[in-house]
Amino acid sequence: MTDRPAKGTDRALHPRTKAVHHGTRRSQYGEMAEAIFLTQGFVYDNAAQAEARFVETGPDEFIYARYGNPTSRMFEDRIAALEGTEDAFATASGMAAVNGAMFSMCGPGDHVVAARALFGSCLYVLELLAKFGVEVSFVDGTDLDQWQAAIRPGTKAVFFESVSNPGLEVIDMRAVADLAHAAGAVVVADNVFATPVFSRAVELGADIVVYSATKHIDGGGRALAGVICGSRDYIRGTVEPYLKHTGGAISPFHSWIMLNGLATMDLRVRAQADSALAIARALQGHPALRRVIYPGLPDHPQHDLAMAQMGGSGGTMIAVEVAGGKDAAFAALDRLRIIKISNNLGDAKSIVTHPATTTHQRLPEAAKAHLGITPGLLRLSVGLEDAGDLVADLTRALEG
Ligand SMILES: *Cc1c(COP(=O)(O)O)cnc(C)c1O
Repeated sequence: MTDRPAKGTDRALHPRTKAVHHGTRRSQYGEMAEAIFLTQGFVYDNAAQAEARFVETGPDEFIYARYGNPTSRMFEDRIAALEGTEDAFATASGMAAVNGAMFSMCGPGDHVVAARALFGSCLYVLELLAKFGVEVSFVDGTDLDQWQAAIRPGTKAVFFESVSNPGLEVIDMRAVADLAHAAGAVVVADNVFATPVFSRAVELGADIVVYSATKHIDGGGRALAGVICGSRDYIRGTVEPYLKHTGGAISPFHSWIMLNGLATMDLRVRAQADSALAIARALQGHPALRRVIYPGLPDHPQHDLAMAQMGGSGGTMIAVEVAGGKDAAFAALDRLRIIKISNNLGDAKSIVTHPATTTHQRLPEAAKAHLGITPGLLRLSVGLEDAGDLVADLTRALEG
């Protein structure tokens, strides 16, 4: 194992350079592409070496793939370097990451404050915490007064999606982090919609950043994966013991897919975000739509905040509300030819989702209404197709 840039020596490199090279570990064969170490175990030279490794595992030493693996460690090192955290732990899915980040550090009697506008499964994890004795307070994530009222001395953690799924509400990360830190709470950001390309989460005060790598990091809708980024103490001292004993480990093959995804992510995500802006502008004011929600449009309620937090981009996701409710929304979906009806996002292929009947179906009607998940709401993940073709597909579908 050689050729890993010494820690700290490549801090100045551009993220695009890090995304291609950082964390590469080469075997004695000097392979150019990152190797897939498709092995669950590792051979020790002698019994004493095995004993020593279980006492303390060095940075280039491995025990069992549920604990760590060289291909997965390359992915962890690379995403940590991009995100600006000391370390990272890769997981089997985005939800294994959300679960691992929260359950590894919370216990009965702890208090967590969370934004209400969350992906359905994230909400489930928070409800599960409550079932195990964690007090969970939900707030309107865009209302700083509610954060201030809910956070109290001793609050363990705050949790939010920096841009919410599917309503595209933008959280003021610096303001929420200041309130949390003043109370001694750690800040956990599910940063999927912001993407690692536009993320400034750590700079804005997030202590822990969680990604579903299934989305923009893979970028091709091929494999499930997740990652938790944070301090070395938290990742190796808190997260790793929890995940290695509970089994949320990533497959080395999926880590390899994600390493390849990272290499092209910057180019892909920027192109997707450019198309998203063009599509949002083209759809704005369309008579078949009640509203177009895109953080990159000046009429978005947190437009200025989004621009400041995401380096001037509104991201790759758009939500639109079809005027005629569910029937009109379904009719438009069924007329699309290029854009696929599915529920992933961040894929090279554009995807449209009807959250009320799919990803957020489980929510009670009142909660859906509160979050703006109306019968006419569609979530659009903009892919890598030509933006003009996508606008034509959407307008033809809306016009019948
Ligand atoms: C998709 C998603 C997740 C879950 O990720 P999986 O890889 O599907 O488990 C978590 N949070 C957000 C915001 C998501 O969009």
